[in-house]
Amino acid sequence: MEVKNPTKPNNPQVLNFADTAVAFAHRTDQELKDAKILFGFINKPLLNKVGSVIGAFAVKWKLPFAERITMQTVYKQFVGGRTLLEVEDAAEKLNKLKVTCALDYGAEGKNDESAYNTTMTECIRAIEFASQHENVPIVTTKISGLASDDLLLNLSNGSALSAAEEKAYKAVAKRLDSLCHVAAERGVQLYIDAEESWIQPAIDKVVNNAMLRYNKGRAVVCSTYQLYRHDRYDALVAQHNICQSRGVILGAKLVRGAYMVKERARAKEKGYPSPINPTKEATDTEYNKAISYCLDHIETIDFVNASHNELSVQLMLAGMQERGIAKDHKHALFCQLYGMSDNVTFTLAAEGYRVAKYLPYGPVADVVPYLVRRAQENTSIAGEMGRELRLVIKELERRKSK
Ligand SMILES: Cc1cc2nc3c(=O)[nH]c(=O)nc-3n(C[C@H](O)[C@H](O)[C@H](O)COP(=O)(O)OP(=O)(O)OC[C@H]3O[C@@H](n4cnc5c(N)ncnc54)[C@H](O)[C@@H]3O)c2cc1C
Repeated sequence: MEVKNPTKPNNPQVLNFADTAVAFAHRTDQELKDAKILFGFINKPLLNKVGSVIGAFAVKWKLPFAERITMQTVYKQFVGGRTLLEVEDAAEKLNKLKVTCALDYGAEGKNDESAYNTTMTECIRAIEFASQHENVPIVTTKISGLASDDLLLNLSNGSALSAAEEKAYKAVAKRLDSLCHVAAERGVQLYIDAEESWIQPAIDKVVNNAMLRYNKGRAVVCSTYQLYRHDRYDALVAQHNICQSRGVILGAKLVRGAYMVKERARAKEKGYPSPINPTKEATDTEYNKAISYCLDHIETIDFVNASHNELSVQLMLAGMQERGIAKDHKHALFCQLYGMSDNVTFTLAAEGYRVAKYLPYGPVADVVPYLVRRAQENTSIAGEMGRELRLVIKELERRKSK
């Protein structure tokens, strides 16, 4: 529902995200009751930590019932399915609500050349799948799934590479190039996740090169900017300038960043200044500044506001209105994780904005480490789960009082 008079510059209210009837129209009462139990559990940090470690162990060692219990709980809420065939169902449900998907093969943490080739092959299959499903325009991947951490670290440090590392580096660039090539041919967009700051220079190097090669006329490749880092706004502007000088579109996914605790701890341990902004407010300011910059250059930046933060979404909506940018502009996308912030996603979609869900998929044993990492590393998870829980309870109460 569009709110009248949305003009409070620092706290605009363009859309009303509090309408849980819209947010959960696609959920049955039973699904909401299950979500209430799950969010209640995840919201308790100790239970979350212990439960996720035990869960990961049980799945890894194939303990009886582990896979079935995981499927009926976290998987149902946060994952699209074990295979692309299963993903089709989730994608179709989202399609009915005018929400598109960014397919995310969730397996991670394996460090050998054959695993990197498997990730690439899986990603190519996802791109082929996307090209056959209109509401799956995006596939996402991580460079650490295509390359070893040691190689990325050495490249990022500027260390001289051994002959074997040179060979491995060429193989990584080739894997990424194959993905971009198929994505370009099939009309699919490829998002590359941002990772830890100590391997990000290597990621930037290969991804920015790919962008210059493939983003002619449209953004085939999108890099990710973590605005919890104090240097990323400048990096965004610098890469935009390079793209403009080469006549290509900058593809940018804006996120706040998921590894804050790890980043700060490593900086302290190794005695270098933390790359992370000193406060949440500073991160918010950088993030919202980046949104304004992208809106100001909407014709040459294809970007996604990948956030659950309602104020950042409202600021982008107000910014679009002020600049006269159409709701369905092909370069302005919103994106939330599957199973989270449904109030934001489905309200945006109902109002005609372009919005996608990040939809992870993959075998249970491979995806569980990804879910555990997300639950444990994301310090905002407790706050986010508290908000999800409140929304689910509100909707259950609304339905009961009808
Ligand atoms: C679609 C999608 C794709 C994503 N892809 C990536 C990715 O590729 N790489 C990645 O790293 N993350 C990624 N994330 C996660 C993202 O970076 C955030 O961790 C998460 O979305 C929470 O931030 P928020 O903007 O949604 O909301 P908020 O809850 O408003 O912000 C929480 C975030 O603010 C920052 N923050 C919190 N406290 C402080 C503090 N004291 N000082 C400084 N900063 C602080 C942290 O980044 C924290 O995660 C993705 C998220 C989404 C929704």
